[in-house]
Amino acid sequence: MAAAGVSVAVIGGGIGGLAAALSLLHAGFDVQVYEQAGALGEIGAGIQISPNGSRLLHRVGLAEALARKGVRPVGVHQRRWDDGRTLQRAPLGDVVEQTFGAPYYHFHRADLLAAIASALPADRLHVGHRLVEAIDHGDRVEARFENGARASADVLVGADGIHSRVRQILFGADKPRFTGCIAYRGLVPAERLAHLGLEVTSNNWMGPGGHFVHYYVAGGRLMNFVAVREEESWTRESWIDRGEIADALRLFEGWHPQVRAIIGAVDETFKWGLFDREPLACWSVGRITLLGDSCHAMLPFMAQGAVQSIEDGATLSSCLLQARGDVPGALSRYESLRRPRATRLQEMSRHNKTRFHMPDGPGQQERDAQMATAGDRSIASIGWLYAHDAGALPEAVA
Ligand SMILES: Cc1cc2nc3c(=O)[nH]c(=O)nc-3n(C[C@H](O)[C@H](O)[C@H](O)COP(=O)(O)OP(=O)(O)OC[C@H]3O[C@@H](n4cnc5c(N)ncnc54)[C@H](O)[C@@H]3O)c2cc1C
Repeated sequence: MAAAGVSVAVIGGGIGGLAAALSLLHAGFDVQVYEQAGALGEIGAGIQISPNGSRLLHRVGLAEALARKGVRPVGVHQRRWDDGRTLQRAPLGDVVEQTFGAPYYHFHRADLLAAIASALPADRLHVGHRLVEAIDHGDRVEARFENGARASADVLVGADGIHSRVRQILFGADKPRFTGCIAYRGLVPAERLAHLGLEVTSNNWMGPGGHFVHYYVAGGRLMNFVAVREEESWTRESWIDRGEIADALRLFEGWHPQVRAIIGAVDETFKWGLFDREPLACWSVGRITLLGDSCHAMLPFMAQGAVQSIEDGATLSSCLLQARGDVPGALSRYESLRRPRATRLQEMSRHNKTRFHMPDGPGQQERDAQMATAGDRSIASIGWLYAHDAGALPEAVA
């Protein structure tokens, strides 16, 4: 369909919603974004964006903005929890950029969100708009907001996160699932760790019942860490809580001194319950669809949740462009192209909980041997993920 004159209401101004809005705007659609919070914002933590995401952000004009704020790690280093022995090293940096045509980045989340938001005209962002109802009238969708405002659009996209109201409207209420993992997250000023001589890599330390990830963000000024441990339940009301550094250190008792040094150098840490959802059988009904965590919330153990939401936006935009006026048809095509890949990543992320957290013993030895030889992060084995261009639709079904 010609994009001009086709209106799209995006509900949610997170990374997924804003990247989708930018992609749709770039394609010529009339896009409005509605965010419940009074201002756009992201939590103080890092995020990894692989080439399958950065390629799409470059395409909508963000290459320079991302290069200014992003850190390009030279590789990914997987290590053993206690003695620090290398289990696997795989290239990122120039090798990945030259092979896949886009960089692997580490960002402070606020930097990434600001870079995407700054490319959207301010009059297309409506903060303080919490969606309460969406009604599909057949020829258009009506959105109703808690503040009394109403909006009408040809298409409505729920990019409203794991607690999605749009998802609830389409498919009824259900609860996200506690995955049995908690995470302590923190940002450490890099100069406090200078004596450790840490490389600019993505690091993953694997041990019994937990793993520890760290990488530089904010132009190398901060070291981001995510310290994951298994826990039976999450009884707190909030998903995020201030955490005690002493508790985090206790949970990583016996781990390599480098891991403990990074945790010990932080000023404050937040504790998260990690939740995901079962893959959804369907994402769209009529003129309404879902995107990002609203339809495929996953454990962060493939570092793909946000990247997949960026891919969603690019595919959605291309499907709508080719739709020749048939919005429900475009949404159903979008879903059929996106759901298998997002589901695969939900499943792989869940599987990595077992794989990363193995107790020492025969299973762990087998895993380590596989990592050393097969190398699941080698250029050849990661191509299916990084080479994918979510904006280019397969010819056969176009
Ligand atoms: C520890 C951890 C580490 C991670 N690391 C990575 C990583 O390295 N790489 C990666 O790709 N992913 C990572 N992820 C996953 C990633 O953070 C999420 O997948 C991604 O942020 C989801 O984006 P979203 O836009 O779909 O949802 P959200 O970021 O949740 O945004 C939803 C937005 O919708 C708004 N909203 C909600 N309800 C309404 C309503 N009714 N009306 C209007 N607005 C509404 C919210 O306020 C919010 O702004 C990680 C996650 C965790 C927990």
